[in-house]
Amino acid sequence: MINSIEQLRVENSFAQLPAAFYTRLEPQVLRNPRLLHANADVARLLGLSQAALDTPEFLDVVAGSAPLPGGLTLAAVYSGHQFGVWAGQLGDGRAHLLGEVVSSSGSWELQLKGSGRTPYSRMGDGRAVLRSSVREYLASEAMVGLSIPTTRALALVVSDDPVYRETVETAAIVTRVSPSFIRFGSFEHWSSSPDNLRILLDYVINRHYPECRDADPGEGGGDDGAVLRFLKSVVVKTAQLVAHWQTVGFCHGVMNTDNMSILGLTIDYGPYGFMDAFQANHVCNHSDEQGRYAWNAQPSVAHWNLYRLASSLLCLGVDAQALKEQIAHFEPAFLDAYRGDMCKKLGLSQWEPTDEKLVDDWWALLHGQRADFTLSFRGLANAPRDNDAFVAAFEDAAAAQTWLDLYVARLSRQALPDQERRALMNSANPLYVLRNHLAEAAIQAASKGDASEIETLLKLLRDPYTERPGYDAYAAKPPEWACQLEVSCSS
Ligand code: AMP
Ligand code: MG
Ligand code: MG
Repeated sequence: MINSIEQLRVENSFAQLPAAFYTRLEPQVLRNPRLLHANADVARLLGLSQAALDTPEFLDVVAGSAPLPGGLTLAAVYSGHQFGVWAGQLGDGRAHLLGEVVSSSGSWELQLKGSGRTPYSRMGDGRAVLRSSVREYLASEAMVGLSIPTTRALALVVSDDPVYRETVETAAIVTRVSPSFIRFGSFEHWSSSPDNLRILLDYVINRHYPECRDADPGEGGGDDGAVLRFLKSVVVKTAQLVAHWQTVGFCHGVMNTDNMSILGLTIDYGPYGFMDAFQANHVCNHSDEQGRYAWNAQPSVAHWNLYRLASSLLCLGVDAQALKEQIAHFEPAFLDAYRGDMCKKLGLSQWEPTDEKLVDDWWALLHGQRADFTLSFRGLANAPRDNDAFVAAFEDAAAAQTWLDLYVARLSRQALPDQERRALMNSANPLYVLRNHLAEAAIQAASKGDASEIETLLKLLRDPYTERPGYDAYAAKPPEWACQLEVSCSS
């Protein structure tokens, strides 16, 4: 472990792309920045010790006051489809890439979010408010606890600088960490510039999809083969990602193509939500009036977004039909991941065709009664031996009993011992999730300089399956006041 951020091995492969891919510039400093929280788990990935996090040099870097030693700071350009409409050029409007830390665990880009205006800020102020920064910080670690691919967060810096949204808030900076922040929109940006698109594609394949590189005679070989294998990999990773989101009740909120990671990671946490009461068409983003990004729309939106990515590859002269064939891998990959997750969540040793109805009926039961997503799944493990308690948790007990009878009959047809079934389920159905009201409590404390709620939530969310005495309130349904909480694109 390294005791100073100055000793990290830093590279700048993104900065070696042609100048048109980015603008080199420094962050805009915050007045009186304070380190509210640093994430020792992510620091360890980078090879940084706890002692390194306590140094003034660390604060300078994560506050944007000093460059990452050896790093070339820049803002990247990209484009994208927002709410189904081509938005043209976007880019890092409030983010700065600091460089890539190379450690024994891999190569990690460090990026500040909320670090000031760039040429891609458009009308924005380049800032991020404390509220959304705390939410991003917590959510990425919650995803890790759920084993769902995500960008990470290393540090949360707060300040007194005012930021004007619906009300006056304060500015914060999150240091995000990821193998790459390249998005579908990065490819769309070059969809009529084949030379630059080819450079970007080669860069991404070489660094992140090396297995796609070598021609495979069975798949046509040559350059097209690499493009197609790359697309297929992104299709499969994206399908798996969204399947995992569905099975924990996660709504991303803004699945624009500029918020879709080329690595299949959850990225750009904004008005996301982990559902409390289940509603299949739940829309977590108050600004999404059409419900484009509702929970039950996420798989088809991901599929649509992959079409946008594939379309951008057309300018390389790749056969359109062959591109389409790669996108056809979406549905089987999604169903495989979804059914695999659902088997664990329901304690089934393997998926059978009739389980489609069992699962559909389960969703219908939860939806009809607006039952709590997380607690309903968690309660299933004990439902067969605690029939009355399970049924009593639903408003329509008869409907719950009807479903439970089906479920018990299904369990009786498999050999899995009951104790193993319950263990499987309790390792797949979290007890603690990042409910909006829990994040809100952490935000309230953070705004007073108190990181203790962040600390508590990280502890619970990093291992959300293990019940901990004394934390009942964190596993409970939201309190009455939380019904008024709204999250919007404002961040
Ligand atoms: P988002 O939907 O938050 O991922 O942002 C969409 C685009 O708007 C991206 O290009 C962001 O960099 C940019 N953006 C969002 N908020 C701001 C802001 N406060 N200042 C500058 N750019 C922003
Ligand atoms: Mg440039
Ligand atoms: Mg974004």
